[in-house]
Amino acid sequence: MMRILYVMVAWALCAMSCANNKAAVHQAAGGQSSVPQFDADSAYALVARQCEFGPRVPGTSAHAACAQWLTRQLEAVADTVLVQQASVTTFDGTKLGLKNIYAAFRPEIENRVLLLAHWDCRPWADADPDPSMRRRPVMGANDAASGVAVLLELARCLRGMPPTVGVDILLVDVEDWGTDGDEDSWALGTQYWARHPQWVSTTPHYGVLLDMVGARGARFAPEYFSMEYASGFVGHVWNVAREAGYGNYFVGTQGGAVTDDHIYINRIAGIPCLDIIDMRPDQEGSGFFSAWHTTHDTMDQIDPSTLKAVGQTLLHLLY
Ligand SMILES: [Zn+2]
Repeated sequence: MMRILYVMVAWALCAMSCANNKAAVHQAAGGQSSVPQFDADSAYALVARQCEFGPRVPGTSAHAACAQWLTRQLEAVADTVLVQQASVTTFDGTKLGLKNIYAAFRPEIENRVLLLAHWDCRPWADADPDPSMRRRPVMGANDAASGVAVLLELARCLRGMPPTVGVDILLVDVEDWGTDGDEDSWALGTQYWARHPQWVSTTPHYGVLLDMVGARGARFAPEYFSMEYASGFVGHVWNVAREAGYGNYFVGTQGGAVTDDHIYINRIAGIPCLDIIDMRPDQEGSGFFSAWHTTHDTMDQIDPSTLKAVGQTLLHLLY
């Protein structure tokens, strides 16, 4: 994940806070809840499992091993899994093989939602407070193993109780090998997918990007580009979160503008896509959680309660 800008724009936040967009009643006949329960401990273990590979920096053996593992995880639960491979050149001239890992659930349903997160790690901890650590890779427990873990756990839930909408899960590669001042140097995996999509069914109607969704004390405020491209959907998702009891995480205050994977899903793929991303306006320098792009983005940043808030909100959205 890349730089953040806090822009002073008066949004129509009223669309969110005023809309009384009651989510569907989550009770099935017989009083049984029709929404699966998201298992926070399982999601936490899935973050840890990714970190056990080491930093998943493109071009490393940890990256290759994790790709295999992610593919197997999805193959165990999804209807269809595809791995898109391509070669991309980064801003610094490095040629990398990328792997976008895609899984479809219920391909026969035309009404579809896309859920995505990046699975690669940044090669340099260039925001580390200790200058001697800035050439080290980032472990990426929160950025972005957390988002991947939420999607993997969610995939298990989808397997257990098929949703009434079609779901496409996309784990995108080479997001974090970018540089400040060059917006298009980020999110290379998503840019490639958006230009060469491989949906096994109809194109999804909406997209939700997860980025940094596992840290203690996370706050998800509506992000600027999400509001520009998908404001109605933002309002709906934030309402669903509040009704599910997670209004302390999904706050209504204005978030910043973040260059992230959702930009290319919106601009190139043409799918309205929002970004659930932890923004900390008080955090000097980055505007993200304190360990962002440092060697401290490790398991001790991760709080299962945050994973639960995001995962359960998504389940309420889908069921
Ligand atoms: Zn990042």
